Amino acid sequence: TYVIALPCVDVMDKACVDECPVDCIYEGERMLYIHPDVCIDCGACEPACPVEAIYFEDDLPDEFIGYTAVNAAFVAAI
Ligand code: SF4
Repeated sequence: TYVIALPCVDVMDKACVDECPVDCIYEGERMLYIHPDVCIDCGACEPACPVEAIYFEDDLPDEFIGYTAVNAAFVAAI
C-alpha cells in the first residue's frame, strides 16, 4: 500500500485525492490518510503531492515508517 506521512500535516493540498482511481484517500483534521485495504498500489498519487508526503510503504524514509500504522489506524476508526 501507499502511505501518507508527516509532510502532509497542516498542508493537505489534496491533489492526490483527484488522482486516486479507487477513492481511498481520506481527509482528517490535519492530514490525509490512505486506506491500505483499498489502495491498489497504482502510484498515481505519489507524484501529485507537492510536499512529497506519499511513499510506497517499503520505500518510506526511516523517520516516517510509523505512518503505515497511522494511516491504518485512521481508516479503521471511520
Ligand atoms: Fe489511490 Fe493509487 Fe495512491 Fe493507492 S497508490 S492511494 S490507489 S492513487
